[in-house]
Amino acid sequence: MRSHPSLGALGSLLCRRLPDLLASEYNNTVHASILVVEDEEKLAQAIALYLRNAGFSVEIALDGQAALEAFARHQPDLIVLDLMLPKIDGWTVCHKIRQSSDVPIIMLTARVGEPARVQGLELGADDYLEKPFSLRELVARIHAVLRRAGKKHQPVIHAGDLRIDLEQHEVFVREKKVELTASEFALLAFMAQHPNRVFTRIQLLDAIRGSTCETSERVIDSHIKNLRKKIERNPQEPEYIQTVYGIGYRFRDAKL
Ligand code: CA
Repeated sequence: MRSHPSLGALGSLLCRRLPDLLASEYNNTVHASILVVEDEEKLAQAIALYLRNAGFSVEIALDGQAALEAFARHQPDLIVLDLMLPKIDGWTVCHKIRQSSDVPIIMLTARVGEPARVQGLELGADDYLEKPFSLRELVARIHAVLRRAGKKHQPVIHAGDLRIDLEQHEVFVREKKVELTASEFALLAFMAQHPNRVFTRIQLLDAIRGSTCETSERVIDSHIKNLRKKIERNPQEPEYIQTVYGIGYRFRDAKL
Protein backbone atom coordinates (compact mmCIF):
# COMPACT_ATOMS: atom_id res chain seq x y z
CA MET A 1 0.00 0.00 0.00
CA ARG A 2 1.21 3.45 -0.92
CA SER A 3 2.07 5.62 2.06
CA HIS A 4 0.21 8.86 2.58
CA PRO A 5 2.19 12.08 2.31
CA SER A 6 2.91 13.70 5.63
CA LEU A 7 1.00 16.85 6.53
CA GLY A 8 4.12 18.91 5.91
CA ALA A 9 4.57 17.42 2.44
CA LEU A 10 0.92 18.12 1.72
CA GLY A 11 1.43 21.70 2.81
CA SER A 12 4.34 22.22 0.48
CA LEU A 13 2.39 20.57 -2.33
CA LEU A 14 -0.38 23.11 -1.79
CA CYS A 15 2.20 25.88 -1.75
CA ARG A 16 3.64 24.80 -5.07
CA ARG A 17 0.20 25.01 -6.60
CA LEU A 18 -0.30 28.54 -5.38
CA PRO A 19 1.39 30.27 -8.35
CA ASP A 20 -1.09 28.49 -10.62
CA LEU A 21 -3.94 29.89 -8.56
CA LEU A 22 -2.43 33.36 -8.69
CA ALA A 23 -1.93 33.13 -12.44
CA SER A 24 -5.62 32.62 -12.98
CA GLU A 25 -6.50 35.54 -15.23
CA TYR A 26 -10.18 35.05 -14.64
CA ASN A 27 -9.84 35.80 -10.96
CA ASN A 28 -7.72 38.84 -11.59
CA THR A 29 -10.40 40.48 -13.70
CA VAL A 30 -13.64 39.31 -12.17
CA HIS A 31 -13.92 42.00 -9.48
CA ALA A 32 -13.54 44.97 -11.74
CA SER A 33 -16.09 47.77 -11.61
CA ILE A 34 -17.83 48.55 -14.87
CA LEU A 35 -19.70 51.61 -16.07
CA VAL A 36 -22.43 50.67 -18.54
CA VAL A 37 -23.48 53.59 -20.75
CA GLU A 38 -26.63 52.73 -22.66
CA ASP A 39 -29.77 54.80 -23.22
CA GLU A 40 -32.14 51.87 -23.76
CA GLU A 41 -32.91 51.33 -20.10
CA LYS A 42 -34.08 47.73 -20.42
CA LEU A 43 -30.94 46.78 -22.28
CA ALA A 44 -28.81 48.66 -19.73
CA GLN A 45 -30.52 46.79 -16.87
CA ALA A 46 -30.12 43.44 -18.63
CA ILE A 47 -26.41 44.08 -19.21
CA ALA A 48 -25.96 45.22 -15.60
CA LEU A 49 -27.71 42.15 -14.21
CA TYR A 50 -25.66 39.80 -16.35
CA LEU A 51 -22.38 41.51 -15.43
CA ARG A 52 -23.24 41.51 -11.72
CA ASN A 53 -23.93 37.81 -11.93
CA ALA A 54 -20.52 37.44 -13.54
CA GLY A 55 -19.01 39.08 -10.43
CA PHE A 56 -18.49 42.65 -11.62
CA SER A 57 -19.75 45.70 -9.78
CA VAL A 58 -21.79 47.81 -12.17
CA GLU A 59 -22.98 51.42 -12.51
CA ILE A 60 -25.37 52.52 -15.24
CA ALA A 61 -25.48 55.85 -17.07
CA LEU A 62 -28.38 56.52 -19.45
CA ASP A 63 -26.87 59.38 -21.46
CA GLY A 64 -23.49 60.86 -22.36
CA GLN A 65 -23.60 63.60 -19.74
CA ALA A 66 -24.42 61.11 -17.00
CA ALA A 67 -21.61 58.89 -18.31
CA LEU A 68 -18.99 61.62 -17.86
CA GLU A 69 -20.29 62.41 -14.39
CA ALA A 70 -20.36 58.74 -13.37
CA PHE A 71 -16.87 58.28 -14.75
CA ALA A 72 -15.53 61.19 -12.69
CA ARG A 73 -17.32 59.96 -9.58
CA HIS A 74 -16.64 56.22 -9.68
CA GLN A 75 -13.45 55.84 -11.73
CA PRO A 76 -14.57 52.45 -13.10
CA ASP A 77 -12.11 49.81 -14.27
CA LEU A 78 -13.84 49.54 -17.64
CA ILE A 79 -16.56 51.32 -19.62
CA VAL A 80 -19.11 49.68 -21.90
CA LEU A 81 -20.12 52.60 -24.11
CA ASP A 82 -23.03 52.82 -26.51
CA LEU A 83 -22.40 55.29 -29.34
CA MET A 84 -25.85 56.66 -30.13
CA LEU A 85 -26.68 58.48 -26.89
CA PRO A 86 -28.78 61.48 -25.85
CA LYS A 87 -27.08 64.74 -24.78
CA ILE A 88 -23.50 63.78 -25.62
CA ASP A 89 -22.78 61.00 -28.13
CA GLY A 90 -20.49 58.06 -27.43
CA TRP A 91 -17.65 59.26 -29.66
CA THR A 92 -17.49 62.56 -27.76
CA VAL A 93 -17.69 60.73 -24.41
CA CYS A 94 -14.81 58.50 -25.49
CA HIS A 95 -12.78 61.47 -26.70
CA LYS A 96 -13.29 63.42 -23.47
CA ILE A 97 -12.43 60.46 -21.25
CA ARG A 98 -9.30 59.76 -23.28
CA GLN A 99 -8.01 63.25 -22.53
CA SER A 100 -7.47 62.25 -18.93
CA SER A 101 -7.64 58.46 -18.70
CA ASP A 102 -6.69 55.24 -20.43
CA VAL A 103 -9.52 53.27 -18.78
CA PRO A 104 -10.49 50.39 -21.08
CA ILE A 105 -13.52 51.19 -23.24
CA ILE A 106 -15.66 48.72 -25.17
CA MET A 107 -17.96 50.45 -27.64
CA LEU A 108 -21.44 49.19 -28.46
CA THR A 109 -23.21 50.25 -31.57
CA ALA A 110 -25.97 49.42 -33.97
CA ARG A 111 -23.86 50.77 -36.78
CA VAL A 112 -22.51 48.11 -39.04
CA GLY A 113 -19.30 48.31 -40.92
CA GLU A 114 -15.68 49.23 -41.06
CA PRO A 115 -15.76 53.08 -40.89
CA ALA A 116 -17.63 53.27 -37.57
CA ARG A 117 -15.35 50.61 -36.11
CA VAL A 118 -12.20 52.37 -37.29
CA GLN A 119 -13.47 55.69 -35.96
CA GLY A 120 -14.19 54.14 -32.57
CA LEU A 121 -10.80 52.51 -32.36
CA GLU A 122 -9.05 55.70 -33.51
CA LEU A 123 -10.74 57.57 -30.67
CA GLY A 124 -9.13 55.13 -28.29
CA ALA A 125 -11.77 52.44 -27.76
CA ASP A 126 -10.17 49.13 -26.85
CA ASP A 127 -12.78 46.96 -28.51
CA TYR A 128 -15.97 47.18 -30.47
CA LEU A 129 -19.15 45.13 -30.31
CA GLU A 130 -21.99 45.45 -32.81
CA LYS A 131 -25.61 45.14 -31.71
CA PRO A 132 -27.22 42.73 -31.39
CA PHE A 133 -24.56 40.95 -29.32
CA SER A 134 -24.78 38.13 -26.81
CA LEU A 135 -24.14 38.98 -23.18
CA ARG A 136 -21.78 36.04 -23.00
CA GLU A 137 -19.75 37.55 -25.81
CA LEU A 138 -19.69 40.88 -23.96
CA VAL A 139 -18.36 39.23 -20.80
CA ALA A 140 -15.69 37.41 -22.82
CA ARG A 141 -14.61 40.72 -24.41
CA ILE A 142 -14.57 42.43 -21.00
CA HIS A 143 -12.28 39.75 -19.59
CA ALA A 144 -10.03 39.98 -22.64
CA VAL A 145 -9.78 43.78 -22.50
CA LEU A 146 -9.18 43.81 -18.74
CA ARG A 147 -6.47 41.19 -19.15
CA ARG A 148 -4.80 43.32 -21.80
CA ALA A 149 -5.07 46.41 -19.60
CA GLY A 150 -4.02 44.11 -16.75
CA LYS A 151 -1.02 45.47 -15.00
CA LYS A 152 -1.84 49.09 -15.68
CA HIS A 153 -5.21 48.83 -13.97
CA GLN A 154 -5.11 47.19 -10.61
CA PRO A 155 -8.71 46.65 -9.65
CA VAL A 156 -10.41 48.08 -6.64
CA ILE A 157 -12.18 45.26 -4.84
CA HIS A 158 -15.68 45.94 -3.55
CA ALA A 159 -17.20 43.40 -1.17
CA GLY A 160 -20.12 44.32 1.04
CA ASP A 161 -19.10 47.44 2.99
CA LEU A 162 -15.44 46.94 2.13
CA ARG A 163 -13.41 48.71 -0.51
CA ILE A 164 -9.86 47.54 -1.04
CA ASP A 165 -7.74 49.72 -3.31
CA LEU A 166 -4.89 47.50 -4.44
CA GLU A 167 -3.01 50.33 -6.08
CA GLN A 168 -3.14 52.84 -3.24
CA HIS A 169 -2.89 50.10 -0.58
CA GLU A 170 -5.92 51.53 1.15
CA VAL A 171 -8.88 49.84 2.80
CA PHE A 172 -12.18 51.48 3.57
CA VAL A 173 -15.02 50.14 5.70
CA ARG A 174 -18.29 51.95 5.00
CA GLU A 175 -16.14 54.61 3.29
CA LYS A 176 -14.06 55.11 6.44
CA LYS A 177 -10.37 54.43 5.98
CA VAL A 178 -8.85 51.80 8.25
CA GLU A 179 -5.15 51.59 9.03
CA LEU A 180 -3.61 48.19 8.36
CA THR A 181 -0.05 46.98 8.75
CA ALA A 182 1.72 45.85 5.57
CA SER A 183 1.19 42.20 6.50
CA GLU A 184 -2.48 42.70 7.28
CA PHE A 185 -3.02 44.50 4.00
CA ALA A 186 -1.17 41.83 2.02
CA LEU A 187 -3.20 39.11 3.68
CA LEU A 188 -6.54 40.81 3.13
CA ALA A 189 -5.73 41.77 -0.48
CA PHE A 190 -4.62 38.24 -1.30
CA MET A 191 -7.70 36.61 0.18
CA ALA A 192 -10.09 39.17 -1.31
CA GLN A 193 -8.61 38.57 -4.75
CA HIS A 194 -9.56 34.92 -4.39
CA PRO A 195 -12.97 35.20 -2.78
CA ASN A 196 -14.69 32.17 -1.29
CA ARG A 197 -11.59 30.05 -1.74
CA VAL A 198 -10.24 28.29 1.32
CA PHE A 199 -6.55 28.73 2.10
CA THR A 200 -4.40 26.93 4.62
CA ARG A 201 -2.25 28.97 6.98
CA ILE A 202 0.83 27.79 5.11
CA GLN A 203 -0.58 29.07 1.84
CA LEU A 204 -1.44 32.41 3.41
CA LEU A 205 1.98 32.71 4.98
CA ASP A 206 3.49 31.97 1.59
CA ALA A 207 1.29 34.59 -0.06
CA ILE A 208 2.39 37.40 2.26
CA ARG A 209 6.02 36.36 2.46
CA GLY A 210 7.19 39.63 0.92
CA SER A 211 5.48 41.57 3.70
CA THR A 212 6.65 39.60 6.72
CA CYS A 213 9.73 37.77 7.88
CA GLU A 214 7.64 35.56 10.15
CA THR A 215 7.88 31.87 9.44
CA SER A 216 5.39 30.49 11.92
CA GLU A 217 1.94 29.85 10.54
CA ARG A 218 0.50 30.91 13.89
CA VAL A 219 1.29 34.50 12.90
CA ILE A 220 -1.54 34.18 10.38
CA ASP A 221 -4.02 33.63 13.22
CA SER A 222 -2.87 36.80 14.92
CA HIS A 223 -3.06 38.84 11.68
CA ILE A 224 -6.56 37.50 11.08
CA LYS A 225 -7.59 38.40 14.62
CA ASN A 226 -6.35 41.97 14.14
CA LEU A 227 -7.92 42.25 10.69
CA ARG A 228 -11.28 41.16 12.04
CA LYS A 229 -11.12 43.82 14.73
CA LYS A 230 -10.49 46.42 12.04
CA ILE A 231 -12.91 45.40 9.30
CA GLU A 232 -15.67 43.29 10.79
CA ARG A 233 -18.82 44.69 12.38
CA ASN A 234 -18.68 41.86 14.89
CA PRO A 235 -15.27 40.14 15.05
CA GLN A 236 -16.91 37.22 16.91
CA GLU A 237 -19.17 36.55 13.93
CA PRO A 238 -17.04 37.57 10.97
CA GLU A 239 -18.79 38.47 7.75
CA TYR A 240 -15.67 38.61 5.57
CA ILE A 241 -12.83 36.55 6.97
CA GLN A 242 -14.26 33.23 7.93
CA THR A 243 -12.63 30.32 9.68
CA VAL A 244 -12.91 26.97 7.94
CA TYR A 245 -12.36 24.55 10.77
CA GLY A 246 -9.54 22.10 10.28
CA ILE A 247 -8.30 23.85 7.14
CA GLY A 248 -7.77 27.60 7.41
CA TYR A 249 -9.56 30.72 6.26
CA ARG A 250 -11.54 32.15 3.41
CA PHE A 251 -12.65 35.60 2.38
CA ARG A 252 -16.37 35.54 1.84
CA ASP A 253 -17.89 37.77 -0.79
CA ALA A 254 -21.66 37.43 -0.43
CA LYS A 255 -22.40 38.71 -3.91
CA LEU A 256 -20.58 35.80 -5.59
CA1 CA B 1 -28.31 54.06 -28.09
